[in-house]
Amino acid sequence: MSTITLCYSPDCETISFAAAELERYLKAVNPAFAFSHASESSAANDCTIHLNTDLDPELSSGLDSRADDLFLISLSNGKGSIQGSNPRSVLLGMYAFLRRLGYRFLLPDETVMPHQLSLADLTCSYSHRASLRHRGVCIEGADSLENVLDFIDWLPKLGFNSFFLQFKEPYIFLERWYHHTLNPTKDPMELTEAFLQDCYKKMHEAMKKRSLLLHAAGHGWTCEAIGLPSIGWVPEKAKPSPKVQRLLALVNGKREYIDRIPMNTNLCYSDPEAIDRFCNTVVDYVKEHPDTDYLHIWLADEYNHICECESCRKTTLSDQYVHLLNLIDQRLTQEHLDCKLVFLLYQELLYPPVKERFQNPDRFVLMFAPISRTFRESYPDRIQEVPISEYRRNQMVLPVTIEENLTFLAKWQKIFDGNSLVYDYPLGRAHYGDFGYVSISKVLAGDIHHVKNLHLDGYISCQELRAFLPNGLPNYVMGYLTLDTEESFDSLMDEYFQAAYGSMADEVKEYLTRISQLSDCDYFNHIGPRTNPAAAWKYQQLSDYVSGTAEDLLNRAKDSHQISDRFQKLLTFHREYVLLLTDALVSLASGDADAADEKFSLFADFVRKKEDFIQPYLDVYRIQEVAHRYTGFSLPEERTSQN
Ligand SMILES: [Zn+2]
Repeated sequence: MSTITLCYSPDCETISFAAAELERYLKAVNPAFAFSHASESSAANDCTIHLNTDLDPELSSGLDSRADDLFLISLSNGKGSIQGSNPRSVLLGMYAFLRRLGYRFLLPDETVMPHQLSLADLTCSYSHRASLRHRGVCIEGADSLENVLDFIDWLPKLGFNSFFLQFKEPYIFLERWYHHTLNPTKDPMELTEAFLQDCYKKMHEAMKKRSLLLHAAGHGWTCEAIGLPSIGWVPEKAKPSPKVQRLLALVNGKREYIDRIPMNTNLCYSDPEAIDRFCNTVVDYVKEHPDTDYLHIWLADEYNHICECESCRKTTLSDQYVHLLNLIDQRLTQEHLDCKLVFLLYQELLYPPVKERFQNPDRFVLMFAPISRTFRESYPDRIQEVPISEYRRNQMVLPVTIEENLTFLAKWQKIFDGNSLVYDYPLGRAHYGDFGYVSISKVLAGDIHHVKNLHLDGYISCQELRAFLPNGLPNYVMGYLTLDTEESFDSLMDEYFQAAYGSMADEVKEYLTRISQLSDCDYFNHIGPRTNPAAAWKYQQLSDYVSGTAEDLLNRAKDSHQISDRFQKLLTFHREYVLLLTDALVSLASGDADAADEKFSLFADFVRKKEDFIQPYLDVYRIQEVAHRYTGFSLPEERTSQN
């Protein structure tokens, strides 16, 4: 077989990586493929694949060269080119080519490959412009360094272009894992500053290698502005000093940390010193972190605790927010810093400002975060405004329906028509309520299909990085749909199930679909009353269905060798997981809290003891935290201390 020459500029790290990945994946299927590498300037041989950004200018006109992705694959018998509007687009184009050859990137550690490939198969003519500008994931949950690096590696394979490392440093997520929070069966590891810095460095390098857009920060500016590190929702032991105290929001006659957590505490945004400190903190950060593409400027992560002082009462939080953002923009402009700033529509900030307007809209990206929404249905295809309650300081009730949430968005869109995205949470909390992952995937697919109709240009998922029980369908669908909103959910699901479950795909699909139908994302996510006979009945049905169906299905899967070891193990674990958790849910929804807690302890024991085995696929910390904080179970430790 003749040698394939991969021709590219070795100066570009991302395109060099794309070439290496192409070689690695093709050779994994056909070891007879031989490769050589040449720079763009050297002479081409018979079998050359060019990887570059030399697109016809007409094709790439109107694109934001840094943020927008467009790629063009033109290959015939292993000869031709993969071109992109930027180096990341070349990488995305290369992975899109592999997908067309039959590669299926099912999980960060599971790729199904075609059985064979010849030179003639390396033929493809396809061009695509990404449907959405912003396509990414934001880190949540508990994460090892390997979890984060594996996820970053997986992102461009699914067509994503962004990753969001929350806070100034994503410390809290590492801490939860390495300290094994909520798993006393594992010994916590000491986290040294050197280790943490090495982790952050490796994450940044992995993103740079793939030219992924870096989103950073979010909450925490309120902490930094008063001299506290913004490492997470960490309680502060010391009371604020008098100097700091006067900068904090006045709530119920007191200026103090809300529940001792500075991250959840707003400042008095009328205080000139508080404003100045906030602006300085942001500007210093941008200067020190020139690789940040999108810097998120959010306020405290708790609602109904905004300042009640006389000055603050004269205006609204959103007016104060836009004023602050304008000041930061002015300072960045003076310093010639072009980092984009992302502002958040969330909690009180869902109400648009009354008077203030953005002076330099190009600097900003609007981010709509309907955190309290239901996941029983997707966004509609257009916004139909409904009446919303008038804002009452510190007595806000969060909107639940999608219509209410979208009405707030529409009101903001009347004063800001710049770049925008939705920041949503199907895989942060809600997914634990869908035991089959079919419903949540379908709902998020519907959401993404309608993102453009809601006049938004992106989708970022705030999520656990290990949301793979029973499989990785939700992220698979999310990535490919944000890349191409024309793809259908059904065909993506079939593609996934075929690759994961082979000839048993239809049967597993039926099984997981039924499980999803009997699940309830909203109940698990604290929406609705805890004692709920209808939910109890459904959970009992679910339990009966799984105990009656799963064993036979798994036995046949094992005998037929149709399902890969990994998915087989996941389904086997999943059966036990669902039975234990639904048992506890039946009791909770029936109003028997003691029995519910006792059964939840059995579930917690099970996931804790199995954590080494299930770690890459299930966030054992997060499922327990959500079940405790939102669903309403007591943790085993609390029961022991009560007894
Ligand atoms: Zn105030």
